[in-house]
Amino acid sequence: MMSARPVVIAVDGPAAAGKGTLARGLADRLGFAYLDTGLLYRAVGAKVLDRGGDPADPAVAAAIARALKPGDLESAGLRDDRAAAAASRVAAIPAVRSALLDFQRDFAAQPPDAAPGAVIDGRDIGTVVCPDAAVKLFITASARVRAARRLRELRGRGLSVSAATVLREMAARDARDAGRTVAPLKPAADAWCLDTSDLGPNTVLSLALAVVEQRQFA
Ligand code: C5P
Repeated sequence: MMSARPVVIAVDGPAAAGKGTLARGLADRLGFAYLDTGLLYRAVGAKVLDRGGDPADPAVAAAIARALKPGDLESAGLRDDRAAAAASRVAAIPAVRSALLDFQRDFAAQPPDAAPGAVIDGRDIGTVVCPDAAVKLFITASARVRAARRLRELRGRGLSVSAATVLREMAARDARDAGRTVAPLKPAADAWCLDTSDLGPNTVLSLALAVVEQRQFA
């Protein structure tokens, strides 16, 4: 039987591994709320840039993180690589991460619209934000496959970018995310890891749903 406490599913992994597609799919199938935590960091990074600041400046970035409002998550351009690169710089600042922690934990504890659970995607959901999550998924894919997916996405949105630029920026962002001292990108000890390089989104969703069923009702 499901407990009254909302069920939390953590979906972590590097950029363009398929986390968002999987997390949205799970939320949809299970009737859970969905939170893309990358958007929080993107919104902080983009705001710092819009104000002419340096995303690596802890004082500026932390002040913006503390004042972040839900409406900021709807700003235009948050999906672009400019925001992604700034996001991975502000994300290395401990004061920024702690300022964004409450928002994420509140979402997990009380998902919007009284949903019975939340699917939360990011880099540190299973390790730091929700270490007690009922299910932890860690989704990866080779750098080549992830860069190709990202390129397709950006071109699909009409942006003109080269494959070499996308690969270079993604590698730099991966290195910053995995190499930072605070909440680095890594699977939780009890995460279920899946390499999606050779898998389509429907297969990934079916495999993850099977894991969710096993863990939740075990
Ligand atoms: O997931 P997305 O690519 O939108 O995340 C953008 C950046 O935000 C990441 O490269 C990472 O630096 C940061 N991030 C993070 N922790 C999270 C989610 C995102 O550090 N939980």
